[in-house]
Parts: sequence; C-alpha cells; structure tokens
Amino acid sequence: MIGKELIQIKGMALDELEFCLEELGEKKFRAKQIFKWLYDSGVTSFDEMLNIPKNLRNKLKKIYILNTLRVHSHQSSKIDKTTKFIFETNKYHKIESVIIPERNRTTLCLSTQVGCPLDCKFCATGLMGYKQNLTSGEIIDQFLMTSRNLGKKITNIVYMGMGEPLLNFENTLKSLTIFNSDLISNIHLKHITVSTVGIIPNIYKLADSGLNVRLALSLHSCFNNIRNKIMPINKKYPLEKLIDAAKYYAVKTGSKITIEYVMLKGINDRNEDIKGLTKLFSQMPIKINIIPFNSLKHMNPTGFSGELEPTSKERIKEFVEKLRTKNLQITIRDSQGEDIAAACGQLAIKFNN
Ligand code: SF4
Repeated sequence: MIGKELIQIKGMALDELEFCLEELGEKKFRAKQIFKWLYDSGVTSFDEMLNIPKNLRNKLKKIYILNTLRVHSHQSSKIDKTTKFIFETNKYHKIESVIIPERNRTTLCLSTQVGCPLDCKFCATGLMGYKQNLTSGEIIDQFLMTSRNLGKKITNIVYMGMGEPLLNFENTLKSLTIFNSDLISNIHLKHITVSTVGIIPNIYKLADSGLNVRLALSLHSCFNNIRNKIMPINKKYPLEKLIDAAKYYAVKTGSKITIEYVMLKGINDRNEDIKGLTKLFSQMPIKINIIPFNSLKHMNPTGFSGELEPTSKERIKEFVEKLRTKNLQITIRDSQGEDIAAACGQLAIKFNN
C-alpha cells in the first residue's frame, strides 16, 4: 500500500535524519545507522535494518515510506550491452535510466525530472514535455535499484537522462551530497558527472558547493543564433555568459569541463563551426565529446525537430580530425542502445494524462 501521508525517508541527508530521530526521542547515532542502511546497503524494507531495534523500526514504518520507485520494465539492446530501465514513481510517473557497460566501467545515466520543460529540438525528452521534478530519493533510488537488479557494481554516474539537473537544483545537490558522504562506499563523486544546457546561476552555485563534481556542458553550437534555434534556453542564458560560468567552474573546481556536441547536418557541422570551437576553447581546459545525432522517429517529431538530420560518419571524422589539428582534446561517443531508444537524446515516455 502506498500511504499518501507517509514521508519519503530515502533522499534525506544525514542532518535531516538526525533531526527526525531526535524528534522521535531517539538517540542521534541511530541516524548514521539508518543512513548506511539506506544508501550503502540499499535495503528495501525497514526490517532489513538489523541493528535498529524492532520498536524503532515499527515507529519508522508508521511515518516513513522507504521505497520511491518500482521497476516497471527493462530492456536490453541486441546490438550492444546497454540496458534501459523504466521506473514508476509513487505518483505513477514513469522515468528512464540507462546502464552502459564499457570495458573498465559501468555507467548509469540517470534522470532528474519527469520529462523536461526546456524543449531542445534534438532531444526526445524535450519533445515529451514536463511533469515534475524528481525527489532526491528518486534520483538516488535509480542508482540503488539498477545496481541491485543488475547484480553488479555501477562505477560511474552521469546526470544526463531525462530532465535538466540544474533546474531541479536542490534535489540534484542533495543527492550529490548523499553520494559524497564518508558513510557511503559504493560510489565516489569523482566518478559522477552532472550535465547542463546552461542554467548559469546554478553552475555558479554548484561550483561554490565544494562538491567538485565533474561538469558537462551541452553546447551543441558556438553561435548564439544557432543555439537559440536548437536550444531555446540560450535566449535566457546566452553563450558568452555561459562560457564565463564554465570558466569559473573549471577554475573553482580544478577540473576539465566536458563539452557535449551533437552533430546536426548543415547546422553545427560546418567549417565555420570548427573555427568557432577553436576560437572559443583554445585557451580553456575542456574536452569535446562529439555525439552522433540519434533518431527521434519514436516521438514522431514535427516542425524543426522533424527536419533535423544526422551528420554523415565521414563528415564527423573530418570535423574531428580538423579540430584535433587545433590541439583540442576530442572524442567521438559511441552510440549505444539506439535499438531500444536508450541512446543519447532518445529518452522519453509518452504521457497518458
Ligand atoms: S537536452 Fe536536456 S535540457 Fe534539453 S530538452 Fe533534453 S533533457 Fe531537457
């Protein structure tokens, strides 16, 4: 039974748990024990919290709900080893998370919102619209539940699934703070990347948070007029100011920014784009991640989204080689999970209501 009145305990930071335990007249040290059961052991019931007295477990059950997500379904690619999980929240919204196994690591791409309000034209999530932010518990549970279902260790997390993490800043930050706790041994912040299309005030806040998580910038063009067209958020947060924020982040955290660049035929794959990227980044500690554009056909796109086409493999190769001659660090991301609509930019659920 899902009691509407019950409070989600998963997603609470240590200080919140301490406060709640004290309110219940319990000793503060119980909060640390519960924190470890929640996020390190990833238990799914209060009864698994073996060092918590039964009467306290019973008290907790009356106030809190522990599970935030249910596995609705999962699907594995026949071409590569990518697996897509569809989760249902306690409010019956569906979200997607993707597991990408690579040679030396297993990466989870997790979601931070149900849909997304930002309407980037090359992105299936943008085409589905927006319902709500995920809670910090729902963000963390994607990690705990995929680890448990796969029976294998997830080594890396990218906040690049459905939604813009920095539009759900509070819950994104809280989930990172929990992952950063010394009490958790299963993931480290240096293996976590947060991706943003450029919510400038929150890039500064994340830089100042002291969390030093890696930042990826969804750039996709180095010209405002193009960016305005493919990413409407650029009208609010234009390129020059975004680059200033990215520079601040790099200096403040001492880390290299990843620039995400999806290749769109005739739009951002021209020779002038090579010149623009070189001018913009020759003096900045960045690496560019070139992403082949993945089909949006499963969303039946109309308007400008429906006109977008992928850059050919030959042109991508040429584009990358020319940039390499300018001493820019650049890689091409393998398109994984395309046959199950789990590749970059393809995540979407059609709303029923
Ligand atoms: S690219 Fe990111 S910010 Fe843009 S619509 Fe898709 S999910 Fe939202």
